[in-house]
Amino acid sequence: MRIILLGPPGAGKGTQARRLMERCGAPQIATGDLFREHIKNGTPLGKQVEQTLKDGHLVPDEVTISMMADRLSQPDCKDGFILDGFPRSVAQAKALDAMLEEKGIKLDAVVQIGVDDEQLVARISGRFSCGACNEGYHDVTKKPAKSNCCDNCGAEDQFKRRDDDKPETVRERLNVYYENTAPILPHYESKGLLKTVNGMAEMDDVTEEIQVVLGKKLCPGTPKAPKIAG
Ligand code: AMP
Repeated sequence: MRIILLGPPGAGKGTQARRLMERCGAPQIATGDLFREHIKNGTPLGKQVEQTLKDGHLVPDEVTISMMADRLSQPDCKDGFILDGFPRSVAQAKALDAMLEEKGIKLDAVVQIGVDDEQLVARISGRFSCGACNEGYHDVTKKPAKSNCCDNCGAEDQFKRRDDDKPETVRERLNVYYENTAPILPHYESKGLLKTVNGMAEMDDVTEEIQVVLGKKLCPGTPKAPKIAG
């Protein structure tokens, strides 16, 4: 399965990509995570992009494209991938087309996670995650059972918040999305690849809707058990 998850910051791309990875087997390739890893490790690339991430701006296309060309050549991407956060500009979308064409492979689908902007800022400003397993939480909508302990992996005192999740940076990241990233939607629509799901629904329902639009052939993973009334 070769797909792109598209949507503004806070739409749930990361969460849904991780779930699809578990259900459908393809690796999640998240440019934001790759940059943050470089920053954490103090690599030259990390030093180059650190301030850009803090400001909520886009890393220059040539830097991002080169990092992704390298990542997509790794053996784990041979049979599929779930792109999360790439492409984010028309130039990146065109570069991705060229990379895939050179490898003789095609995208299966581009899934746009549609959201309500007003709710996004509240959603992003309250989020935090486990530094050990990456499980996502939220101050209001998804608190861990014990305030300092991850429900998923049991790690203690490992919760972290992203530097760029402050409300003013979130607004800037939303502006950047509409200016640079939204214009790539027609590119994929004209290729007949674009599918849209409702990202404001419950997390489980969003995953289910994505699996439905992808179809069983692409993502045969276990769908959620039907809800039982009462
Ligand atoms: P994310 O984790 O996807 O929200 O990305 C965090 C930050 O990493 C973004 O605000 C950008 O500064 C940078 N970034 C991630 N993906 C890209 C991309 N495809 N092009 C340029 N910058 C990116």
